[in-house]
Amino acid sequence: MNKVLIIGAGGVGNVVAHKCARAPGVFPEIMLASRTLSKCAAIRDAVEQRTGRRIGIAPVDADDVEQTTALIRRYRPNLLINVALPYQDLSLMNACLAAGVDYLDTANYEPPDEAKFEYRWQWAYRERFEQAGLMALLGSGFDPGVTNVYCAYAQQQLFDEVHYVDILDCNAGEHGHPFATNFNPEINIREVTARGRYWEQGTWHDTDPLSVTTDFDFPEVGVRKAYLMHHEELESLAKHFPEIERARFWMTFGASYLKHLEVLQNVGMTSIEPIEFQGQQIVPIQFLKALLPDPASLGPRTHGKTNIGCIVTGEKDGKPVSRYVYNICDHQACYRETNAQAVSYTTGVPAMIGAMMMLTSQWMRPGVWNMEEFDPDPFMAALNAHGLPWTDIEFAVDIDALPE
Ligand code: NDP
Repeated sequence: MNKVLIIGAGGVGNVVAHKCARAPGVFPEIMLASRTLSKCAAIRDAVEQRTGRRIGIAPVDADDVEQTTALIRRYRPNLLINVALPYQDLSLMNACLAAGVDYLDTANYEPPDEAKFEYRWQWAYRERFEQAGLMALLGSGFDPGVTNVYCAYAQQQLFDEVHYVDILDCNAGEHGHPFATNFNPEINIREVTARGRYWEQGTWHDTDPLSVTTDFDFPEVGVRKAYLMHHEELESLAKHFPEIERARFWMTFGASYLKHLEVLQNVGMTSIEPIEFQGQQIVPIQFLKALLPDPASLGPRTHGKTNIGCIVTGEKDGKPVSRYVYNICDHQACYRETNAQAVSYTTGVPAMIGAMMMLTSQWMRPGVWNMEEFDPDPFMAALNAHGLPWTDIEFAVDIDALPE
């Protein structure tokens, strides 16, 4: 009988727990463990209220490999779903290897003292997982995650040759706060303030942070300014689909968010360098996180929609073709279903589906894998069945013709 152990009782962990609870055939037993037990208890109670199912909870410090290994050995899950922070990826992979359990996450490893994300640290585990007969599925959120699966679907079903990929992430939700982030503030701000980067003709091209923009008319949302950013799925897509001539990632931001971010950066509040304050060392961005609204608290007050998708351009039957595959999510509908806003929802649902793919052996082979390395069809079908329906349309606009 399948058992899953979810690590991390944040916004995403809440959605994963709800969605697993709603699929008892695949997830008959669920445990949620995190650093703060009271957060696990609040999620357990919400899940019970909405689904009638009771999940187990436990405290754990996921940075401590021995502690996590002991918890895994006690609970004996088939799969560990890591929705704590990217800092915990390697220690949780080590614990999975020590206790002999499969692994899944939604964000690639970042060292806490360097604002940098790269797959190389996790790809280096491939042989160890292979030799142990275990599987690790990396980046099973929306972006990365669903966006990788959209690209695999486009390559497999829609094109003979894929030339260009543009990933567009728009959150048009309004939460009423002058400044808040819709997932973990520390990870969000590190990502947004990093230099931009895209893949073209076999090499990486860097840009100044948020310096390249385009106005894009998002279905059901309207025109929004999107900013070119580096994002982790670009790295794995460039590796696994080497024929792609160019891959870029765009994200929208509102004027208020950008104004606050600029000021916070200018005064040093987004720095990850520890400083001395009243006799103790503090990291400014961690202090800022403590001041900002908890993303998990945004659910009831966020209205509007998200639209995330991929525009893929290439050739089919000798003719140029461009397709746009996307999902639209309504913040309030997500809240009614899972107590969470759409950014947590769009991450938590694919984490549950990735787990479902593994536990039902539709996606199962030893080693460390990215999402685009598996058959996209069962995942695409599950997205429609579990709350993230997608649309696939012919796309007439050349994204390069849009104003910069
Ligand atoms: P939150 O900050 O809301 O939640 C993270 C949770 O992890 C918190 O409950 C926190 O506990 C817990 N945690 C942190 N450190 C430890 C530790 N050492 N041991 C045990 N638990 C720990 O983040 P989100 O839910 O918004 O995000 C979760 C993950 O999802 C992140 O990795 C994020 O990058 C990823 N993500 C992926 C996306 C995608 O599309 N692929 C999109 C959005 C997010 P405590 O509260 O006690 O600090």
